[in-house]
Amino acid sequence: MDNLKPVRVNRNRLETNLQALAVYGHNGPSKGITRPFGSQADKEARAWLSTLWSRHLELQVHTDPIANLWVTIEGKENLPAIVVGSHHDTVTNGGMYDGAMGVLLATEVLQTIQEHGIQLRHPLKAVSFSGEEPNSFNVSTLGSKVATGKLSTEDLFEKRDNKGTVLFRETLHELGGDVGLLTNAIITNQEIGAFLECHIEQGKKLESKGLSLGVVTKIIGIYREKIIVIGEANHAGTTLMHHRYDALTAASELLLVAEKAIVACKSDEVVGTVGYLQVEPNSTNIIPGQVEFILEIRAVDSPYKERIIKEITKGFNEVAARRKVEVQREVILDQAPKPMNAELMQALEHGANQIGEQVARLISMAGHDAANVSDVTRSAMLFVSSVNGKSHCPDEFSRIEDIAKAGNALLEAVLYLDRKLD
Ligand SMILES: [Zn+2]
Repeated sequence: MDNLKPVRVNRNRLETNLQALAVYGHNGPSKGITRPFGSQADKEARAWLSTLWSRHLELQVHTDPIANLWVTIEGKENLPAIVVGSHHDTVTNGGMYDGAMGVLLATEVLQTIQEHGIQLRHPLKAVSFSGEEPNSFNVSTLGSKVATGKLSTEDLFEKRDNKGTVLFRETLHELGGDVGLLTNAIITNQEIGAFLECHIEQGKKLESKGLSLGVVTKIIGIYREKIIVIGEANHAGTTLMHHRYDALTAASELLLVAEKAIVACKSDEVVGTVGYLQVEPNSTNIIPGQVEFILEIRAVDSPYKERIIKEITKGFNEVAARRKVEVQREVILDQAPKPMNAELMQALEHGANQIGEQVARLISMAGHDAANVSDVTRSAMLFVSSVNGKSHCPDEFSRIEDIAKAGNALLEAVLYLDRKLD
């Protein structure tokens, strides 16, 4: 046996696979990819991936009840599996790397191990999670939420899409899942000992440091509030300025209160956005009677979030009293920041060092399946530099050189963990 030459992934094959998967849901030249959960493009991508895994890797594809796709290379010993993977769905008019790259790097690691006849102690699995991105059913990281027990049959059985016309369970059935059996999709740390997700950075930190790879220390916490401002709809001409209870001008002040509180933290690890806002009745000659918006705060450390909420509560009450409008608030998401596993982070760094790469440690400002999986078992993420930090758009791009480096670092990390973990 030749132990001197290190085992490396096949860069050309990786590139070919990335291009091949990017066909599904592609919106045409210089446009992006639309491949949300349950779409025709999702179905085609699943069929393509299943064929790749079953024909080229000769592994049996397992579709679990939430339609996550799995393949396994059996290990020599009876140990928990090491899992590598990500997701294959995209946002509307998104790019070809977010998610897909992680699934195809996982595929490449399995295939490389297989063709070099390496027999691991642990089972090695690749996974592609269902519906990681927002979709018409308003659930993101769907597959990993179900797999970690955060969503059940009860939660999803009667669920419909946002138009109220499509039943979730029917869409899931079309993808090979079964809403009645979701408990069977739950993973445990007895079955899975480690999860490594490789993903594009979707930011500029690595690029600014001149690095190809980064190891994620924490996945940022996400907090969302639905806020309804109730004023009074009235005639836009005959209602004098001091007789108005304008829900939109009040909401505008609330937005600025929130922005001020977030900026006051003076931290690159806190951001906030209002990206959704609806005005009622939304008519040129009627004073807005009601405004609904969603305020999102992302913070690495909970004290920041607490501070912001305290500040906005104070500010919102002041605006509501002064403008004589009602402000209703409802917390719709409160996801704590998720630290990644130190042993796995070290394994990824070791993997990168084995191929002569320096890595940065950085925080993920985006949510990922790994955040959910980290509640159940050791999890870590490897980031690949994003050119110009662009993502969720057609210009999303990572260099194949960097992607191949990630593949080799991931491969080395898997081999290392296979020796280390029991
Ligand atoms: Zn993603």
